[in-house]
Amino acid sequence: MFEHILSELKNIPDLRILENEPMSHHTTFKIGGPARLFLDAHSTDALSSAYSLLCDSGVSPLILGNGSNLLVSDSGFDGTVLKVSCNKITVCENRIFAEAGALLSSVASLAQKSALSGLEFAHGIPGSVGGAVVMNAGAYGGEISDVLICSTYISKDGIFRICNKEHNFGYRNSIYKHNSDFTVLSAEFEFSCGDAEKIAETMRELAEKRRSKQPLEYPSAGSVFKRPEGCFAGALIEQCGLKGFSIGGAEVSEKHAGFIVNRGGATACDVRSLIEHIQNVVLKETGISLECEICFVQKEG
Ligand SMILES: Cc1cc2nc3c(=O)[nH]c(=O)nc-3n(C[C@H](O)[C@H](O)[C@H](O)COP(=O)(O)OP(=O)(O)OC[C@H]3O[C@@H](n4cnc5c(N)ncnc54)[C@H](O)[C@@H]3O)c2cc1C
Repeated sequence: MFEHILSELKNIPDLRILENEPMSHHTTFKIGGPARLFLDAHSTDALSSAYSLLCDSGVSPLILGNGSNLLVSDSGFDGTVLKVSCNKITVCENRIFAEAGALLSSVASLAQKSALSGLEFAHGIPGSVGGAVVMNAGAYGGEISDVLICSTYISKDGIFRICNKEHNFGYRNSIYKHNSDFTVLSAEFEFSCGDAEKIAETMRELAEKRRSKQPLEYPSAGSVFKRPEGCFAGALIEQCGLKGFSIGGAEVSEKHAGFIVNRGGATACDVRSLIEHIQNVVLKETGISLECEICFVQKEG
C-alpha cells in the first residue's frame, strides 16, 4: 500500500516524507515508538493534497498537531501520520486568521502585539491551532470557543468552512473529536480591542501562575484527566495520597497531581499503568470516576 502511493506523495511540494520516524520526537511526553510513514505538511496545499491522496487510497492518517495531548504506544503507529505544520498567521483589523499548524502561543503573541484582547488565557497552552480547536482548549476561565469565528477542514467529501455554532463546542469537546476523518486546515478568531501593555501584563501573570503550579520542567501532556463535575482531578488525586507515586519512569507530579510527568525513560506502558492505578484508587476512595483528557494512539490505529 505505502509503496504504491509513496511515489505520488513524493511529487507534493512542501511535504516531508520520513519512514519509521520516532513519535517520541513529536510528543511533549517524549514517548512513542516509530510511525511507519510520517508525512510533514508545511503548507495547506501540501496538507490537502496528501490528505486527499491518502483518502483516495483508503488510508486513514493519524493527524498530528503539536503532540501535546497525546500518548503514543511504545510500539509506535503502524500506519501514516500526517503532521500539520502549515503555520501562517495574518491579522486584519480585530480578526486573526491562522493555519492549523500555527502554535496557539504565536497567535496569542500576535494578538497581544496588535492590541487585541481575548486570547491571553491561551498563551501557555503548548498546542497548535488545529489541536486547540479540536480539543476546545481552555484555561483560566477562557476557551477557544469564546474567540473562534469559524474553521475550515478537509474530509473525504471536500473542503468545508463551519461557523462557531456548528462546532458543538463543550468542555474539551468539539465536532472534530467525533469525526476523526475531519482535518482542520485553518481557523479565524475575533477579538476585542485592548491595550497592548495590559494584555502583556495579563499574559505574564498567567505564565507565572503556570510556572509556579505546573511541572513545566518535565515532559508531560498537561492535565491527564478531565475536570470532574464540581471538583478538580488534581485535588482528588492528592487527597488519595498519590502525589509522587510512580510506575517506572512515570510519576504523579509532586507539583500538580493532575499531571503525570516523564521523569526519564518513561514508557507509554508505564503511563497507562499509572493512569489505571490512579483511576482505581480515586474511584475506590471517592466514588468518582476520572475520565482521560489525553488521547491515546495504539499501534494499529
Ligand atoms: C505543559 C502542558 C500544559 C497544558 N495546558 C493546557 C491547558 O491549560 N488547557 C488545555 O486545554 N490544554 C492544555 N494542554 C494540552 C494540550 O496542549 C491541548 O489539548 C492542545 O490543544 C493540543 O493541541 P496539539 O496541537 O498539541 O494537539 P495534538 O496533541 O497533536 O492532538 C490532539 C488531538 O487533536 C487531533 N488533531 C490535532 N491537530 C488536528 C488538526 N489540524 N485537525 C484534526 N485533528 C487534529 C489529534 O489527532 C489528536 O486526536 C497542556 C499540555 C501540556 C504539555
